[in-house]
Amino acid sequence: MNQQLWNQLDDLLLKLKKLDYALNVMQWDAETGAPHSGMKARSESQGYLSSLSYQLMGDASVKSLLNDLEKDLNENEPLNTAKYRKFKRAYDAMTCIPENEYVDFVKLTSESTVIWEQAKHENDFNKFAPYLEKMIEMLRRFAVYRGGQKGSLYNIFLEDYEMGMTVEKYDHFFDALRAGVVPLVQEISEKCKKNKIDFLKVNYDLKKQGVVAEDLLNRIGFDLNRGKLAESEHPFTLTLDPSDVRLTTHYYEDNLLSSIFSSIHEGGHGIYEQNCDPERTGLYLAEGASSGIHESQSRLFENGFGRHPEFWKSYFPILVKLFPNELSHVTEEDFIKGVNHVESSFIRVEADELTYSLHVMLRYEIERDLIEGNIQVKDLPDLWNAKMKSYLGIEPPTDTLGVLQDTHWACGLFGYFPTYALGNAYAAQILHKMETEIDVEKQLSELNFVPMKQWLTDKIHCYGASKTPEELMVIATDEPLNPAYYVSYLKDKFRKIYG
Ligand code: ZN
Repeated sequence: MNQQLWNQLDDLLLKLKKLDYALNVMQWDAETGAPHSGMKARSESQGYLSSLSYQLMGDASVKSLLNDLEKDLNENEPLNTAKYRKFKRAYDAMTCIPENEYVDFVKLTSESTVIWEQAKHENDFNKFAPYLEKMIEMLRRFAVYRGGQKGSLYNIFLEDYEMGMTVEKYDHFFDALRAGVVPLVQEISEKCKKNKIDFLKVNYDLKKQGVVAEDLLNRIGFDLNRGKLAESEHPFTLTLDPSDVRLTTHYYEDNLLSSIFSSIHEGGHGIYEQNCDPERTGLYLAEGASSGIHESQSRLFENGFGRHPEFWKSYFPILVKLFPNELSHVTEEDFIKGVNHVESSFIRVEADELTYSLHVMLRYEIERDLIEGNIQVKDLPDLWNAKMKSYLGIEPPTDTLGVLQDTHWACGLFGYFPTYALGNAYAAQILHKMETEIDVEKQLSELNFVPMKQWLTDKIHCYGASKTPEELMVIATDEPLNPAYYVSYLKDKFRKIYG
């Protein structure tokens, strides 16, 4: 091994990491209360720091360094291989595309985001359509630049978020979901019509909601001494370093469950980041392995643990003490059913645990067919509505509540959506394995998250991004992704609650 070469790579990665640190602080500041008046100054600084990153990576010496490193790869040095693989992917994504086309793309995404917002507001898909058409055309070209001639062009984008995933694997995964979950939604949502859920819509004091959010983060094992919770429009997790992980939630006066579950969800992401181990992997790899694995951790905490009836049997009385006027007349059973209420609805981000992945499946199918050139942008509203009808039994009355609801396509994010559903499936498979080693129900009924957090740290978190998603699943569960666990998890859980 040529140590000097690897030291050169480490130097470069450290510099990039420092620039990222500054950019992340700026983003955190922008989204958690910085005054609007400072926007121009901030975005100029952000632009300058981003261009420094671009220059560092684009330098001619980096190309030759990567060539030399490739020759020095050695299966006895798996960390070097992982580091090289991760950096090379980012490098190729940036440098394979001619600079002028890349600049055009950045311009297009910022314009199309503004137009999308107007189109959504005015329920006018035709306004957004030309931008989306241009976006698809560019992305198809970029996929070819990046080597996507063989098989599906969409594979290039799928790999950006989940290494190893392909159209073939996702098709197989969603086939299993369609067959198992679509009929289950019909069965369970029929039973949910009897749920008494008025308590979900009354007002809850915002300060007390903040107390609950921090209490829950403490209990599940997010270390508030090495992190922070703030409020933003849309909840997110941002890592400055494993020693400083930032979370946000959003408090709505008339929706207590929203802040509770977004805090637990982001807490799951945050616990993952806090327990990556830079001593073991080096700083560059001390972060989540992929979008899907990341989402598995947040969904496991949010749904697997956080919506579990055993957890609420113990935590509901604590909540009643804090909100006696709002909750003392609600029974434990009604509360648990409320937390696990299933009802087909139009908006993905508000969907319940059972219907959520069907919203994602619909988006996956549309993205795949757009990138592969099998459907036209102008046909999207009709296609969207037909799929909603077939998977969820409802049809949005407007495009605002349908095809225009998400910002992802306007921002040029293709290939990201399916990782949301993948995360749910990984989570169910991980939970299944964990339950063979830990009595999870008992621990939840004692509000004790320590054994589960430790298990996840040992099997997943400590490896950071030094393993591929598939390697991690094999380490944690002894097998690669198997969607059967997710389908049977949903069936068992909801049939038990609504039996
Ligand atoms: Zn998430």
